[in-house]
Amino acid sequence: MLSPLKKVIPIAPAAGADAETVWLYEAHQKIYPRSVSGIFTRWRWALVFLTQLVFYGLPWLQWGQRQAVLFDLEARRFYIFNLVLYPQDFIYLTGILVISALSLFLFTAVAGRLWCGYACPQTVYTEMFLWMEKLAEGDRSARMRRDAGPWNVDKLGRKTFKHGLWLAVALWTGFTFVGYFTPIHALGHEMLYLQMGSWEVFWALFYGLATYGNAGFLREQVCKHMCPYARFQSAMFDHDTLIVTYDEARGEPRGARSRKADPAALNLGACVNCSLCVQVCPTGIDIRDGLQYECIGCGACADVCDTVMDKMGYARGLVKYSTQNAVQHHWTQRQILQRVLRPRVLVYSAILGVVVLAMAVSLVLRTPFKVDVVRDRGSLARIAAGGRIENVYRLQIMNATETTQVFHLSVQGVPGLAVATEEDVTVDATQSRWVAVRVQAPYDAATPGSHPIHFQIEARDMHASVSEKSVFIVPR
Ligand code: SF4
Ligand code: SF4
Repeated sequence: MLSPLKKVIPIAPAAGADAETVWLYEAHQKIYPRSVSGIFTRWRWALVFLTQLVFYGLPWLQWGQRQAVLFDLEARRFYIFNLVLYPQDFIYLTGILVISALSLFLFTAVAGRLWCGYACPQTVYTEMFLWMEKLAEGDRSARMRRDAGPWNVDKLGRKTFKHGLWLAVALWTGFTFVGYFTPIHALGHEMLYLQMGSWEVFWALFYGLATYGNAGFLREQVCKHMCPYARFQSAMFDHDTLIVTYDEARGEPRGARSRKADPAALNLGACVNCSLCVQVCPTGIDIRDGLQYECIGCGACADVCDTVMDKMGYARGLVKYSTQNAVQHHWTQRQILQRVLRPRVLVYSAILGVVVLAMAVSLVLRTPFKVDVVRDRGSLARIAAGGRIENVYRLQIMNATETTQVFHLSVQGVPGLAVATEEDVTVDATQSRWVAVRVQAPYDAATPGSHPIHFQIEARDMHASVSEKSVFIVPR
């Protein structure tokens, strides 16, 4: 009897051949990754600690009187240590995205899916959730046995403990995420007294439950079916890219044997066919089948295979990081490293270097305030007292420093043009202020029509100035 979820597409049989049935729906097989230890696992845990120390710790860091990193969407100001950015500084966000993309291209060309295997939040949280799962339910075989067995008090208790741990971490993750957008000390106080705003509650729950679902349940399915990076990574690989590889020439023919047996006498390769490399794989694949898009390059199979090789007394590295060229031509580590500086890598590095340099220079030379000039829509131009022609503008001055600043306004572009309102404007620290500015010119200073002018805004204490374009209208 067919499952109602399974869709059957009959393929028209060739003359004389039997009909074939293709299953388009494949039921999900739960993966129970076995815990592993080794050099790559230690690196992954180091990255887990490092990334989570930054993620959970950064919002609590104070910088002067404020949070060091805060994206205040309501006030449209982003604080990153001593930088105060406005939406007008969007170019820096673009720069960060370009740098991230180029770094990803570069690291992928050199060492494959380093990001996926060690630093991607999906990997990091899955690792943390697996650790909690092991704490509550034991390692792979115990978990498999328990899941296959009937419900009892022990199973219920362990599952409740596990989900309690998961939910606690997930909700704390959601709270921390919101803490990047709302001052986290105040948010913590609001949470304690159940006074969080509805949007804050929504985003904390949304992010928290997304973490719970992705790291607790979806796991490898996010990498296999949802993440676009897995699909286009192969475009960035070449035959000198480091990937996790199985040394087929050395490993085959695979087969079980006793530790004391001589594989050559048995006509066997180094692979003892223990399947541990499959059991530790978080995506459930067999690295011995070759490079597969599901492989996130975590190195767990290399770690476990090394322990098997140690036990058997064989040389390590049956599964290892290597390149396709190295495997094919039996290159040494030195030869592999020599191929790192190949044209593709040099081009990526050069472009990345230029973008990083441009961004750094731009940040250093950045004027610490911004000005927007908007013409008053109420009147194009009018005749003021004394017969002078007057245009009215609205200037938005954004003070991106953390001290109160006095800005001096002046205007040029038409003979005799001058600011007729207050020339000095005070703007509080990290605030922006709209000011109405009347600009006047003598009656016969210019011909009727529109004339380009420039506002010059000078920050008195910083010796910095900004010039903004506008037009001055002379009526007929
Ligand atoms: S862990 Fe190593 S020895 Fe065991 S099956 Fe995998 S490749 Fe073969
Ligand atoms: S095949 Fe090896 S490196 Fe690839 S995901 Fe599985 S365990 Fe990680």
